[in-house]
Amino acid sequence: MNHLLGSVKDVLACLRQGSVSAVELAEAALQQQETMARLNAFISRTAESALKAAEKSQKRLEKKENVGPLEGLPVAVKDNFCTAGIPTTCGSKMLQNYVPPYSATVVRRLERAGAVMIGKTNLDEFAMGSGTVDSSFGATRNIYRSGVRYRVQTQGESDVPTEGLDGDWYVAGGSSGGSAVAVASGSAFLSLGSDTGGSVRNPASYCGVVGMKPSYGVVPRMGLISLVNSMDVPGLFGRYVDDVATMLGVIAGLDSRDSTSVSSSLSNLKLPEEPRLDGLVVGIPREYHCPGLSSEVVDVWTKVADLMEDSGAELRQVSMPHTKYSILCYSVLNPCEVASNFTRYTGVEYGHRVDASHSMEAMYALTRSAGLNDVVRGRILAGNYFLLRENKEKYYEQALKVRRLILQDFENVWNSGVHFLLTPVTLSAALRYSEFSSLDNRTQTATQDICTQASNMAGVPAVTVPVSLNEEGLPLSLQLMAPRGEDADLLSVAKWIEQHLKFPRLCIL
Ligand code: GLN
Repeated sequence: MNHLLGSVKDVLACLRQGSVSAVELAEAALQQQETMARLNAFISRTAESALKAAEKSQKRLEKKENVGPLEGLPVAVKDNFCTAGIPTTCGSKMLQNYVPPYSATVVRRLERAGAVMIGKTNLDEFAMGSGTVDSSFGATRNIYRSGVRYRVQTQGESDVPTEGLDGDWYVAGGSSGGSAVAVASGSAFLSLGSDTGGSVRNPASYCGVVGMKPSYGVVPRMGLISLVNSMDVPGLFGRYVDDVATMLGVIAGLDSRDSTSVSSSLSNLKLPEEPRLDGLVVGIPREYHCPGLSSEVVDVWTKVADLMEDSGAELRQVSMPHTKYSILCYSVLNPCEVASNFTRYTGVEYGHRVDASHSMEAMYALTRSAGLNDVVRGRILAGNYFLLRENKEKYYEQALKVRRLILQDFENVWNSGVHFLLTPVTLSAALRYSEFSSLDNRTQTATQDICTQASNMAGVPAVTVPVSLNEEGLPLSLQLMAPRGEDADLLSVAKWIEQHLKFPRLCIL
């Protein structure tokens, strides 16, 4: 079905005109999900509820009554957002059979807008990772050079390889790799991810899709299973910037059930047809030229910066000297919040449980060692160590002070008149699984999140925009960041990049 890789705007128009029905579209998306099963993007398929929702959408479309802004649109949801009556596993044995009694606010808002959820997507266990390789449901694979047959619209440039690789596939990035692949492979038009250190922007970069982390608080977290409460944000994936803007307009806004949410003026967000750069000051932070940055990423960074300058933007070199501490600081703050959040997984009220008749403590210990992987258990242990009375000041409180300095770097840059920052997202194109998995989870985060983590500390919005394909045919992307609350303008500049760089699109055969 050729609708599946189109834009949200086009397919919504087709649904409204009746050239495709919501049920046909849901069936096609579910079929695509099956065809792409080898990529392992989904933990669960929700075919039955999707078809029921699509039938209801179709009735509303036919009667032209209560037609929502996403009426009939197939979407996917990362499996760490609660979905009423539908299992929500967090990619962990611990929640393998957990069926929440309520849905996350963002899920309810998508459903209210008429979206049709076709499944829950794969992730690193409890979103702790950067490759979607540490899920108890197996790793997710990147669609690029996976063996899936596709053609690339190369816009006159020389052809890039599209054939599959034997055995050694490319990682999708993570932790929201399933959501990125669901959108890249045409199973869903939009998907939800979560981003605490880069988990939306990293897989978006590797999979050639747009991935946005909104300002902290703009999109409510209620029903997103907590990792690091002070940094977690629901994130958005789409193939086009306008698609992401449409979704943001639906899910943003104050939620009385989330005290960290803020009101925003993003409802019905529409970006300018042809955004312009005149008068904009774009900062290039020196510290993002970090060790390990590949020359091909440096090349696209320079190319896009030059093009922006030629098109009316003022480019300015800036310094953000504390950026280099963000990973170290995160390696303390993340486990501390994890240690606190994970006290709930005891096997008593919900989740996996290993019975031990001799003692309650033994039951907790056996449950947690059977239900949680090494990465999660390691972070719980580390966090409890950092929070011991004799250590708290030395580690946790010290890290909070460093976090403040990182935030101050952003404030200084904005106060100097810079409107946006342009940086890499990942150090290179997607890595092969063998190379990626030769590093442990902690080292993976230390290299994967170098360019993405600081914005989570500061709560500022950031977006991944795919730019081009490298010689191996893999996507190369860049990141834009903006001051807190400037989410709409951030997307406008992302749209400018999309329009001018014309990232080659996949045509799946
Ligand atoms: N890689 C980071 C971690 O493992 C970030 C994950 C995320 O953003 N959810 O904690």
